[in-house]
Amino acid sequence: MPNAHPPTTSSDVIVVGAGAAGLSAARRLADAGLDVRVLEARDRLGGRLHTRHDLAGVPVELGAEFMHTAANPLRPVLRAAGFEERRGVSSHLPSESFRPRLESFLAASCTPEESISVEALVQRHATDAPAAQLLEEAFGAQRGREELRRTSATDAMHELELELADDEFMGEHNFRLPAGWGTVVDHLAQGLHCETGRRVEHIGIEAGGIVVEAVGENGPLQYRAEQLIVTVPLGVLKNGDIQFTPALPAEKSAAIQAMTTLDILKLVFVFDGDVWTFDSPVQQTRPSPSTWWHSTWDGAPRDETVIVGWAVGDEARRMLQEPPEVMTARAAASLSAMLGRPDHPPRTATFHSWGADPFTRGSYSHVPPGAPRDIRDRLAMPTGDRIFWAGEATAAFRSRTVGGAYASGARAAAEVLDARSRLVEAAS
Ligand SMILES: Cc1cc2nc3c(=O)[nH]c(=O)nc-3n(C[C@H](O)[C@H](O)[C@H](O)COP(=O)(O)OP(=O)(O)OC[C@H]3O[C@@H](n4cnc5c(N)ncnc54)[C@H](O)[C@@H]3O)c2cc1C
Repeated sequence: MPNAHPPTTSSDVIVVGAGAAGLSAARRLADAGLDVRVLEARDRLGGRLHTRHDLAGVPVELGAEFMHTAANPLRPVLRAAGFEERRGVSSHLPSESFRPRLESFLAASCTPEESISVEALVQRHATDAPAAQLLEEAFGAQRGREELRRTSATDAMHELELELADDEFMGEHNFRLPAGWGTVVDHLAQGLHCETGRRVEHIGIEAGGIVVEAVGENGPLQYRAEQLIVTVPLGVLKNGDIQFTPALPAEKSAAIQAMTTLDILKLVFVFDGDVWTFDSPVQQTRPSPSTWWHSTWDGAPRDETVIVGWAVGDEARRMLQEPPEVMTARAAASLSAMLGRPDHPPRTATFHSWGADPFTRGSYSHVPPGAPRDIRDRLAMPTGDRIFWAGEATAAFRSRTVGGAYASGARAAAEVLDARSRLVEAAS
C-alpha cells in the first residue's frame, strides 16, 4: 500500500473496473444523478472486450466475439442505439426434439445430488444411448474437454434449466457486431467519468465511507466515496491483487477461492484472399490449438480471411511454454497445413493470453465440482452497505458472458441505490 499522502478525490460511488459490468453499473448510477467515478487499471476501457482495428480490414476481437442468445440483456440497448448486428456462427443448432428431451431429462432429476464434474456425468450415462446423445448435444459443441472436467455438473444442469426457462439455448443464436465490441464500449462509456491507468491496490472501509488507494502513472492516488462496486475479474481477486481493510468476510473469501477460472489463449491470423475451403466455419485439428474458426465467415468481404485459434487450460499453458514467435509460427504452420496452403503464410499473426494478462488472470469463471450451488450468489452478496460486487463471475445467469456481466452491473447498481436509501432513512 502506498505510504505517501496523495491528494484525495471524492465522489458518491467508485466503480473499480471498466468492463461491461463496471460501465453498466456506472451508467445506471450516473443516470440516477450520482457522482460516479470509474477507476480502470489498463490504458483502455472494455476489459475483456478488446477490439483491434489495425490487424485487418474488419475489426478483430482479441476478447469476446459473439453476443450470445436472442434474449441477451444488451441486445435491446444496442438496438435502441442503432448498432448493426449480424447473425453469426452458431456454436450449436439443437436438433428438433432437443428441448422437450432435455426438459424431460431434467425433470427426471438427472441433476446429480453429489457434486461431480460434467465429464463424470457424461460418462455415467455413456451406456444409455439416448441420454448420452442428449448430453453430447447439450455440452459437446459448447465446451472444451478441460471445461467438462473442471465444471460442476450441478451448475451446468442448473444453467440448462435457466436457459430452457428463458426459452433459449446458449449456443443457438450468436450475433456479431460488425463495428466491433470496442464501439459498444465507447457507447456504454459515453459521458461517464472514467479514469484509465488507475490500478487499485487497496480498499478500506472507514467511518462514513470508502477509501481507495490506487497507483497511476505519476504515483499513488487516493479516492473517497460513500459506496464502491468491485467488478475486477475473479482471477484478480483470487490473486489478492487488491487488499481490503478490514479483511473481507470469511464467506466472501471462501467464495472467491472456491471458484475457478481457466486460461484461454486466443490467436488471430489474417490471410490475403479467401483461404477457407471448409463447409463449416469451425474446424478441430491436431496439434494445438485444437479449435479454429473462420471469424469473417458471415458476410465480410473475402479479399482477406481472419481465422481464430483457440486453446483452453492445459493446452494454452503448454503452448505458452514456447517463446511467442516459436509458438505463433508453429500454430501458423499447423493452420496452413489444415488449410492445405503451406505456401501461403498469414499476412498478420497475433495472440492474447488472458491467463497471463495481469488484469484478468484467467478467462472467465467456472464453478468446479464440489463447490456449493449458490457460490455465484455468495460472490455477488454486498459487503455491508459500502462494498458491492459485479462482474461475470457474480452473474447467476449467463455468467462467463458479456450479457451476464452487463446484467450483474445493473444488479449491483440497484443494490447501491437501495443501500443509499436505507442509509438516508437511518440518518433521518
Ligand atoms: C478470449 C475470450 C473470449 C470470450 N468470448 C466471449 C463471447 O464470444 N461472448 C461473450 O458473451 N463473452 C465472451 N467472453 C467473456 C466476456 O468477455 C466476459 O464475460 C465479460 O467481458 C466480462 O466483463 P466484466 O466487466 O465482468 O470483466 P472485465 O471485462 O474483465 O472488466 C474488469 C475490468 O477490471 C479491470 N481491473 C483489473 N484489476 C484492476 C485493478 N486492480 N484496478 C482497477 N481496475 C482493474 C480490468 O482491466 C478490466 O477492465 C470471452 C472472454 C474471453 C477472455
